[in-house]
Amino acid sequence: DLADIGVTGLATMGRNLARNLARHGHAVAVHNRSAGRTDDLVREFGGEGTFLPSHETAAFVASLKRPRRAIIMVKAGAATDAVIEELAELMEPGDMIVDGGNAHYADTRRREAALRERGIHFVGTGISGGEEGALNGPSIMPGGSKESWEALGPILQDIAAKVDGVPCAVHVGPDGAGHFVKMVHNGIEYSDMQLIAESYDLLRQALGVTPAELAPIFREWNEGELGSYLIEITAEVLDHVDAATGTPFVDVVVDQAEQKGTGRWTVQSALDLGVPVTGIAEATFARALSGHPEQRAAAARVLAGPSVSGASERSLIEDVRHALYASKIVAYAQGFDQMAAASREYDWNLDLGALATIWRGGCIIRARFLDRIRAAYDADPDLPTLLAAPDFAEALNAAQDAWRRVVTTAVEIGVPTPGFSSALAYYDGLRRERLPAALVQGLRDYFGAHTYHRVDREGSFHTDWSGDRTESQTS
Ligand code: NDP
Repeated sequence: DLADIGVTGLATMGRNLARNLARHGHAVAVHNRSAGRTDDLVREFGGEGTFLPSHETAAFVASLKRPRRAIIMVKAGAATDAVIEELAELMEPGDMIVDGGNAHYADTRRREAALRERGIHFVGTGISGGEEGALNGPSIMPGGSKESWEALGPILQDIAAKVDGVPCAVHVGPDGAGHFVKMVHNGIEYSDMQLIAESYDLLRQALGVTPAELAPIFREWNEGELGSYLIEITAEVLDHVDAATGTPFVDVVVDQAEQKGTGRWTVQSALDLGVPVTGIAEATFARALSGHPEQRAAAARVLAGPSVSGASERSLIEDVRHALYASKIVAYAQGFDQMAAASREYDWNLDLGALATIWRGGCIIRARFLDRIRAAYDADPDLPTLLAAPDFAEALNAAQDAWRRVVTTAVEIGVPTPGFSSALAYYDGLRRERLPAALVQGLRDYFGAHTYHRVDREGSFHTDWSGDRTESQTS
């Protein structure tokens, strides 16, 4: 008998994905470069379903039903290219190669175009949810052709997380769309975590409370509009005490945040698309700042903090909750703007509301909040910004005074809150009737004759700054 689908690359993610498939009754061909992992999988979990193990790639491909469906779960980059090539040589037109790794969407676009020439469907697929999600139901974001979705969709929806019975897997769009959306998901994840970290830091410093005393606050927040996986696990991590020293766990962890690069990719792409994703950028830069201990030590020795330290009131807790929610709305609005811009740039025709739906479960940023994003796009698919959706506008208006107090307090007591501050600046920037961009245009015209538009007349204009300052129309 032949397998319904195959998985090659059986490290943490591939192994759990293969088990998830098998548990759902799909016969799974399994393969890994080093045979040990394949044998271990079958030995340990063979009882969970039907596995067809192979030690050689050719045997793996031969064990698949036609049209063949093979999922690659190997290290992103050169390894993925190598495995794709190996599979493609053994496959036929109509077969499908799914890359479930964290590929850069530009690589996915390149690979899809190359394989399309050979008649093979290449399905760059974002998979979120880590090890646990892969096993019990991830959020799945496949790109690629419509035909490949027809053949793969039912299986992917089968193994995906479900929220209210709706699977967290949809066809995102052509070529690199799936990996692009997964990238933005990760960027938003950076921003969510940064905002949570700022909330914790500010409350701890301002109120002089312990991490364990903060845990119940996050637990309570989790019951309301902030309800989400990341808020839930924040309470768990803050509560945790290091067994070896008896001190709070967060105090024994080195305070340098690492990254695998998806936040950086998101910001790089946003710069190219001209979309301000300040929330994700600040989160990425905050990690970078934390990773420079030599600069931090030098600065800590000589740079002063505020001279007065005002005591903060308990009411700060509720204010921080508002600031966190408002900043989160901004970060998501920016991420969705970036996806909309990419959709226009690459003709992806992304359904933003559907993307909110598949992030409701399985993935790291899963949150109650995503239902409200879905509702906002349902009500108006051409929404210029999520901030203007009635529901979010109302929440922001209700939060903004508290948000300003939080940023003011942070500035006063010298606690850095780049996430809160930049989100508030974005909010104030967007709602501003007149921006100082007019002065920037004036300066550009002064030194570079870059011209400007007028509020009262059509056309481009230049002022003779070095001469008699008369204005001429240039077009
Ligand atoms: P790793 O990223 O650690 O990759 C290890 C796997 O890649 C092993 O199966 C290894 O084979 C294989 N491999 C490496 N180089 C080659 C090569 N040149 N040829 C063939 N196989 C090779 O595994 P993970 O399970 O952590 O992740 C798999 C993919 O999923 C990655 O792209 C990752 O970014 C992505 N991902 C990971 C998530 C996570 O939470 N870990 C979440 C979502 C996506 P061997 O055993 O022979 O060394």
